[in-house]
Amino acid sequence: MTGRDDEELLLDLLNTTPVVDGAPTDRLADAEAGRSWLAAHGVAGTQGEWRTVRVARDTLQDVVRGASPASALAPFVDGVRRHASFADGAITWELHTPPDGDAAARAVLAWDRLRAERPGRLRPCANPDCRLFLIDRSKPNTARWCSMASCGNRMKARRHYRRTRDLGSE
Ligand SMILES: [Zn+2]
Repeated sequence: MTGRDDEELLLDLLNTTPVVDGAPTDRLADAEAGRSWLAAHGVAGTQGEWRTVRVARDTLQDVVRGASPASALAPFVDGVRRHASFADGAITWELHTPPDGDAAARAVLAWDRLRAERPGRLRPCANPDCRLFLIDRSKPNTARWCSMASCGNRMKARRHYRRTRDLGSE
């Protein structure tokens, strides 16, 4: 359970605090919501997992927004090990995460892989009223919105409105 899967886990985790109808929400707000979110990502939905992943989520959001140093993520990979085993002529690596820290560790490892392999690709949506994040997978690395359909069009319309309004007042 490493690699691309965890990139989705990371992005989904960062995006658990969307603005809905103008109000910030939290999809991990209570243990019940946390349990189903974790289960949907293949993690045992214990109270401890929920608590840890929620703190990891807040820390990851701060780090990606540049509000916290990357070192703030260190506690979430404390005790993480990779174990090699040899079978059928090949080595497989298995990830061992501390109790209640599986989802948090996997999200932070995915963050680190993006940082190292595709720096700058994970970023907040450029709409200041939006709290979502995006992973830019486009060649030119010019994506600015979590989605063109929602924020992209809204921001374009706003800019257009401002431009026409400014012209009108001159
Ligand atoms: Zn957005």
